[in-house]
Amino acid sequence: MTTGDKPTLLIVDDVPANIMVLGDLLGDDYEVRFALSGKDALATAAEGGVDMVLLDVMMPGLNGYEVCRCLKSDDRTADIPVIFITARDDAEDEARGLAVGAVDYITKPFSTPIVRARIRTHVELKKKADLLAQLAQLDGLTGIANRRRFDQAVEQEWQRGARAGSWLSLILLDIDHFKNYNDHYGHPAGDMCLKRVASCLEETSTRAADLVARYGGEEFVVLLPGTDPVGAQRVADNIRSRIRNRAIAHADSPVSARVTASIGVASVVPTADSSPDQLIGFADEGLYAAKEKGRDRVQCRTQIWVRSTTGSTKVLGGGDSVMSSWPI
Ligand code: GH3
Ligand code: MG
Ligand code: MG
Repeated sequence: MTTGDKPTLLIVDDVPANIMVLGDLLGDDYEVRFALSGKDALATAAEGGVDMVLLDVMMPGLNGYEVCRCLKSDDRTADIPVIFITARDDAEDEARGLAVGAVDYITKPFSTPIVRARIRTHVELKKKADLLAQLAQLDGLTGIANRRRFDQAVEQEWQRGARAGSWLSLILLDIDHFKNYNDHYGHPAGDMCLKRVASCLEETSTRAADLVARYGGEEFVVLLPGTDPVGAQRVADNIRSRIRNRAIAHADSPVSARVTASIGVASVVPTADSSPDQLIGFADEGLYAAKEKGRDRVQCRTQIWVRSTTGSTKVLGGGDSVMSSWPI
């Protein structure tokens, strides 16, 4: 659901008088936009901000069924509920409308209270569906993105990076001696500590495309599309110092009197025939090395694939430190 006080309805009809009738009926409760053709309706819906489409069937050019089918097949508009409002009142037409993806089919002449009630019901359902979809992507404790959201994002960014030939970097962070923290301060304090670390991560990753997520337990990830190894290392260093500077007491840590974290960083230019698992595995190697070397540190890994003349891809090399000058 879009922000703002009133949900937005898009009324689509080639007869302006029909739009006026519906607009008068619904204008007090909804923000009303309108389109006089199917083509205009698709363009307006794709711009975003439309919560529901009220659609006529018989229109010159694209008819209502075609418009509905187009809306449902476009990722940007597929989730907008469509209600047909039409004079075509036989069962076959109604079945066809529902088959192309409409949530409801209202025939004219209609009863005003029934139209109002049906629209209100579908708007409420849409609000609930949006909220559930949002919650399904968030971590309940920290409020940042959860593992499911990260899994989707890394897959999308991998494909995008492979198409564009651009860097994709990943930061994997694990709080040091967190079991001791829980044992010493108790589980509720441990939860509070996780929230504070999550906020450090959010404050450090400022680009719109960056995604901070809880990977599981006391592990967090930051996905950095379009960020090269030098940039990724800088973000990781900033995160590490921000956590240190937050000065969360950790009396039972062998590393420091404050909460610290170990961080693995990986940077690759994705290829179509490789998978994000490689990026994650690589960041995990960095994290393992950071733990091995004494914790409270950042370890970077950079991997570059080269495409041979036969079209196959092989790993050219990986590094213990940042190697942005390697040939691609
Ligand atoms: P290391 O420095 O090697 O990472 O040691 P560690 O103690 O941090 O790692 P270990 O994997 O042994 O322990 C992780 C701890 O994180 C144990 C687990 O109870 C705690 N933990 C995981 N999820 C949560 C949570 O949601 N809340 C709290 N309070 N603790 C959690
Ligand atoms: Mg761990
Ligand atoms: Mg840990």
